Amino acid sequence: MLAHDSLTGLQLVVSQPMVEIDVLWITAGLGCDGDTIAMTAATHPSIEDIVLGTIPWIPKVRLYNPVLSYLVGDDLLQHFAQAASGKPERPFILVIEGSIPNERNKSEGYWASFGTDPVSGQPITTVEWIERLAPQAWAVLAAGTCAAYGGIHALEGNPTGSMGLPDFLGWDWKSTANIPIVCLPGCPVVPDNFMEVLLYLLNMAAGRAPMIPLDDALRPRWLFTPTVHEGCDRGGYYEQADFTENYGASECIVKLGCWGPVVQCNVGKRGWMAGIGGCPNVGGICIGCTMPGFPDKFMPFMNQPPGSLLSSHAVGTYGKTIKALRRFTQASLNKEPSWRRKQPS
Ligand code: SF4
Ligand code: SF4
Ligand code: SF4
Repeated sequence: MLAHDSLTGLQLVVSQPMVEIDVLWITAGLGCDGDTIAMTAATHPSIEDIVLGTIPWIPKVRLYNPVLSYLVGDDLLQHFAQAASGKPERPFILVIEGSIPNERNKSEGYWASFGTDPVSGQPITTVEWIERLAPQAWAVLAAGTCAAYGGIHALEGNPTGSMGLPDFLGWDWKSTANIPIVCLPGCPVVPDNFMEVLLYLLNMAAGRAPMIPLDDALRPRWLFTPTVHEGCDRGGYYEQADFTENYGASECIVKLGCWGPVVQCNVGKRGWMAGIGGCPNVGGICIGCTMPGFPDKFMPFMNQPPGSLLSSHAVGTYGKTIKALRRFTQASLNKEPSWRRKQPS
């Protein structure tokens, strides 16, 4: 239900604050569980902060994730089955991790499943779970690039027909709370990005936050507007045309294949864990894993991006001149002012 905040003029999603909510997290897309594992590195907030109720004013959260939950087997599965039956225990946020395969592109077998049907004894495909759960979900999150846009498994020529959640459900799809699919790409998703967005949605559920702002690729705008380049520790080297072709050097690595100038990702500023790390900051080229065109449009990974041939050449003339002038100024600034060196008369 939509409500209007007369104080701020913003649109709030609920008029009645929610007090309890489940997070049903399916890791059974085609993936590696890397996004779930990444959650254990989140610090702002941590997963413990949310499930132990240390953050005020948000609903009480029960997290059901096959890797992170204490529950296993049928004890875990029953919570998904209950929701899939059309009578969920509580409102829930559905999190999908991994690519969604096309189960109709073959005559037998299946690509991905989660649990077995107690009546037929047959595997329940991941696609069936999504078809049953998504229409009832208060919100749906795609965790990682595989779930958001297909990722590695949707590489051209793969036999699975893999796709991301918006391609599967539709880019205009909305949840029961009228929230579009929220895509959190990254391979894996940056841990604090995911937890911050989950916290944002929990504040929406509590009636304390306006509709989440998303870009055209359904990514939260405040996290995915800046480029890697704009938050990179090596930006100063780029500006001075200090490009290296050696691994392990501290200068800009665009000539080694870094796509940072055009890729929307904040890991350089946010870090992977407790603010530490971030691909180019620590010497890894950006291969564009947060982008819908990943991986096909970024391959071969180790080649210099074609567009950067022009831009790094253009920066070259300006950068080298500016660097020389700066060294000149620097040499002057490294000397004490002459009036401090008065010789005893
Ligand atoms: Fe694994 Fe990356 Fe896919 Fe996440 S996006 S499931 S980390 S391959
Ligand atoms: Fe930009 Fe990549 Fe160079 Fe960093 S390493 S300054 S992101 S091109
Ligand atoms: Fe992916 Fe590039 Fe961000 Fe690293 S810097 S997480 S490769 S988009």
